[in-house]
Amino acid sequence: MPKVFIKTLGCQANKADSERLLGDYVSRGFTETQDWKKADEIVINTCSVRKAAEDRVTGLILNINKHFPLNRPKIILTGCMIHHGDKEIHKLLPAVDEVLPISEVGFNIQAVRKDKNRALVPISSGCNSFCTYCIVPYSRGREKSRPLGEILDEITQLANNGFSEITLIGQNVNSFGLEKDGISLRKLYMSTHNASDVPTTPSQYKKPTGTPPFVTLLKEISRIPQIKTIRFFTANPWDFWDELIDEIASNEKIDRFIHLPVQSGSNRILKLMNRGYTREDYLRLIEKIKSKIPEVVFGTDIIVGFPGETDADFQDTVDLAKKVGFKIGFVARYSPRPGTVSNKIFTDDVSAKTKKDRWEILDKIINKDNLSQRPIVP
Ligand code: SF4
Repeated sequence: MPKVFIKTLGCQANKADSERLLGDYVSRGFTETQDWKKADEIVINTCSVRKAAEDRVTGLILNINKHFPLNRPKIILTGCMIHHGDKEIHKLLPAVDEVLPISEVGFNIQAVRKDKNRALVPISSGCNSFCTYCIVPYSRGREKSRPLGEILDEITQLANNGFSEITLIGQNVNSFGLEKDGISLRKLYMSTHNASDVPTTPSQYKKPTGTPPFVTLLKEISRIPQIKTIRFFTANPWDFWDELIDEIASNEKIDRFIHLPVQSGSNRILKLMNRGYTREDYLRLIEKIKSKIPEVVFGTDIIVGFPGETDADFQDTVDLAKKVGFKIGFVARYSPRPGTVSNKIFTDDVSAKTKKDRWEILDKIINKDNLSQRPIVP
């Protein structure tokens, strides 16, 4: 029987994709091996969020090459690094035999899951938001939601197989279905903000025509009796509709941990990031959620050392983090990534030492000081 080794780097979306990749291999007669030295095919599901993540891929490929001077296993590269394009990848990493766009790994492939109680279920892929530091809209393409019926079928099958905890996965889970059903909110947004503050990407401003499709999905999943806990990862701050807050508040099956990336607490930096909200918008949303769900626990993503971030900008982020009281935070030091807008138009002008100092301050406030209250991260 041929063997496959799958190396997964990066986020939960990549983990969910790898489970389906393995499902595809198993359906073709492969078995999984945990040892790449015994594999006939090696799949590397990559992440481009930091340079270090790409360096790990290069390191692994160098090791494989060294170990197999002859008859090397087939190496397949997928995930976010494929945004470099076939030509560039083959130039940078000549040992790669095949570049596989993750969109070619269909949602309907039966995943092979390691955990027998909790399941990751992808509900959408890609992103329309074009935050300036992010490669996802280029590597994964535009946002595409999976049909609701198909998601429910998969979860029903999981429930019948003994799973009781479901984590819905997507880059922006709460904009699920809006690429089809949403109406543009840009005009409304422009009536309450300065035109110069409105990002150029209208896709962040879609308003549901009725009940937000994500709320409908949550309601439908909760009707499955064997499913006891529903989590989702990651929600964005701009599609967090009142109906969604009400649904979480009234539905005991939905976990009280909400991961809501803020990225910065400075309006100037948020605008440079093209995040589409101000710190005031974000804090208003947090207060609204806290008032309806008092037991809520927040997590977040923050980038420190974004181009042009001054001490005052950073203090705004510290102040926001304290006001929200995040219990967990993925704090990253800005690292310019080829292919992103920020890499093209801004200079990476915050020193490595300042980035490290800022990282340590936030990591202490959000993570170290809250170790005992750390939520279960999906
Ligand atoms: S919302 Fe922004 S950070 Fe998140 S995946 Fe989309 S472009 Fe990237």
